[in-house]
Amino acid sequence: MQKVNYGRLLDDKIAQLEKNGEKPSLLLHACCAPCSSHTLMFLDGHFEITLYFFNPNIAPEKEYNFRLSELKRLVSEMKLNINIIEENYDSKPFFALAKGLEELPERGERCKRCIEYRLRKTGEKAQELGFDYFTTTLTISPHKDCQFINECGEKIASGLETDYLFSDFKKHEGYKHSIELSKQYSLYRQNYCGCIYSKKKEKITENV
Ligand code: SF4
Repeated sequence: MQKVNYGRLLDDKIAQLEKNGEKPSLLLHACCAPCSSHTLMFLDGHFEITLYFFNPNIAPEKEYNFRLSELKRLVSEMKLNINIIEENYDSKPFFALAKGLEELPERGERCKRCIEYRLRKTGEKAQELGFDYFTTTLTISPHKDCQFINECGEKIASGLETDYLFSDFKKHEGYKHSIELSKQYSLYRQNYCGCIYSKKKEKITENV
């Protein structure tokens, strides 16, 4: 399958918006503060951003609450005028979708379902609230399959009245910049992706 340069697609979209003097609304799914840091800086000024914290995959609940509190602290300390929509913690849907796939490695079928579920909910929320676009911070991670995330977002949007914003936030040294911003804001950088299955296999290295 031909690889698409999703970073270029986002650059082109931003250039088009600038040319037209447009600043559309965007519901940005956020997995954690480190991944949001560069992403927010990159998109700020081009979109009216609202963050959406919907991550039923994260366990335990204490970890979920801490990642959310770090996201709130980041937005406050970056002095961005951005609202965060947060969902109550409910891991049941995640465990249902992961059933039978518990032992698979990252980037396998469990992760595809996990990402698809979070993106679908983000798209539906964007439609419900009348956003022009939705997307996710997940494409900044070198551990995630950027092509899959974007294809998934495009497919979800085809059934909705909101557009998916293509992205590869790793471009323009995005991942490196997120590490620098994490240091600058003393952000918590988790060493596992989020679910208990990734925690079992946790490595000593960071996983954002
Ligand atoms: S490893 Fe990450 S992406 Fe995969 S299922 Fe667990 S939380 Fe979701």
